[in-house]
Amino acid sequence: PQRVQQFQEPSVWLEFSPLSSLCNAINLGQGFPDWKPPNFVLEAASKASSDPSLSQYARSSGLQSLVSTISKTYAPLLQRSIDPNKEVCITVGASEAIFLACQTFVEPGDEVIFIEPAFDIYFGAVVYAGATPRFVSLLMQSKEATQPLAASDLRLDYEELRRVLSERSRLLILNTPHNPTGKVFKKEELENIAKVLQEFPRCLVLCDEVYQHLVYDDEVHVPMATIENMWERTISVYSAGKTFSVTGWKIGWAIGPFHLIRPMMLSQQWIVFSTTTPLQQAVASSLEQATQPFESEPTYYAWLRKRYQRKRDYFYQALIEAGLHPVKPQGSFFIMIDISEIQGIRNEMPSIVKEWRKQGLLDIDERTQNAMDYNFCRWQAVEKGVTAIPCSAFYSRQHQHLGSRYVR
Ligand code: PMP
Ligand code: GLN
Repeated sequence: PQRVQQFQEPSVWLEFSPLSSLCNAINLGQGFPDWKPPNFVLEAASKASSDPSLSQYARSSGLQSLVSTISKTYAPLLQRSIDPNKEVCITVGASEAIFLACQTFVEPGDEVIFIEPAFDIYFGAVVYAGATPRFVSLLMQSKEATQPLAASDLRLDYEELRRVLSERSRLLILNTPHNPTGKVFKKEELENIAKVLQEFPRCLVLCDEVYQHLVYDDEVHVPMATIENMWERTISVYSAGKTFSVTGWKIGWAIGPFHLIRPMMLSQQWIVFSTTTPLQQAVASSLEQATQPFESEPTYYAWLRKRYQRKRDYFYQALIEAGLHPVKPQGSFFIMIDISEIQGIRNEMPSIVKEWRKQGLLDIDERTQNAMDYNFCRWQAVEKGVTAIPCSAFYSRQHQHLGSRYVR
């Protein structure tokens, strides 16, 4: 079909993870932890996978033990009681929750708004549903050239948002903490977005909160669903992959009011029907245990946050000392660097990359051959043994130039 044509090229992940392996590079590209998941998580998985009663299909919209645990776990964050059977849907990672929401709520002729830069899977989910993506950009507030860059200086232009919204707008995709910038939206910013949305009652919100636990310094993660009048029109999306360092498990969930979750549950039965049973049980058990003391910290979440904070501080400082221009993240596990002032970057695909491509070892999107950020990342993987992700991958076709001065 016409709508799929533009996706018949490999995504950035299909090039850079194999490239990283071929170069034997340190892979800071695709976002996943390089350490062992906690023992209580691994033990829960091995116990569940050897339990014969957990070897068959689960309830389509989620294993009872998992939806019950999620309803208890998320009540404080979402500041309300959550009905486990009516307001939670378990999905194949957060990725499927995003796909499901698009399949369920948008149709050809509808527009879906998202904030650039954006996690690239949104583009696919929207276009596969036949809808049209529209973009609003996060803009760096201008500061003295000598001031360090920070994700907290990225702002949304609410007037621009108002201009992009119309009666065709069906869904706004928000992501906080934000991939790839590391921005954490403040309560006031979410209130401003909600205020603009009041004029567009047909537009729902999908709030992607997979990095909910990864926030730094004094930042607090605020879900859009807790903003006044927003629960009724918001689907909140989460992922066990990020929280328990098990991105390969692909267990995610959507939480929202019954009138939004029920149609998603009904779509779920026609798409994947259900998600892997033992891993759902393992996530239920991990969520139960995560609130217990862990490694001298009051909870596993406190330990996780501290661990990432230490890594963020260390890496940010190292980048500054190397003379680079990192954008200080407030959350997520990403950090962007402005490469525009690095001297002597050759905008050319390294010859070994061309050779690997010829041999079929690497699949490369034709259109990125002459992209500065892509060629920087290719060069860095080959010559320096470190893999990063070119940020133009997080921009629409027409705005590639905005991303090409950054790598993540
Ligand atoms: N949303 C964001 C912002 C992400 O970075 C990712 C990364 N994988 C996902 C969703 C997908 O999560 P999952 O692996 O649970 O499908
Ligand atoms: N979301 C992760 C990232 O941004 C991994 C990519 C993916 O799941 N497609 O790195």
